[in-house]
Amino acid sequence: MARPPIPKPIAAVVWSRAQGHCAACKGRVIVGQGEIDHRPPLIMRQRVPGLPDTDPAAYIPHANEPDFLALVHGEKSGVGCHKLRTFGDGLYRGDVTENARSREITAKQTKHHEAMRRKLLAPNEPETEQPKSKWSTGRKLQGRPFAKVKRPMRGTP
Ligand SMILES: [Zn+2]
Repeated sequence: MARPPIPKPIAAVVWSRAQGHCAACKGRVIVGQGEIDHRPPLIMRQRVPGLPDTDPAAYIPHANEPDFLALVHGEKSGVGCHKLRTFGDGLYRGDVTENARSREITAKQTKHHEAMRRKLLAPNEPETEQPKSKWSTGRKLQGRPFAKVKRPMRGTP
């Protein structure tokens, strides 16, 4: 996914707020070895319809909102805190796997919602092929009336 570039003044705000410390490992980050991490990740944020991935205003919250940015060790630091966070290390569920998982759940929910919607639109339509009733519909079951025969009670005159 293409990301909107973080403007230098915004990055500076994030650096100074972090006081040069990595948000993942709390270690010192040398200038030039840091990366600005979007938290929550952009891929998981709500989107403004019609705006491209590269537009910081396409995300809710805004991609350049400093409160949702964190300083982490970048690739050049050799620590790889940013990478670890993005892809996961097997122990910690990274953003990518977390996102894949939520997508999977969404897919299941969508399937369920679709089934529910169909059911609402056609409530009489059976979900699966069901055996037809052996009684043809519209036919009333006739009760077998007892023949009312007056039988004289025994012992009566
Ligand atoms: Zn770190």
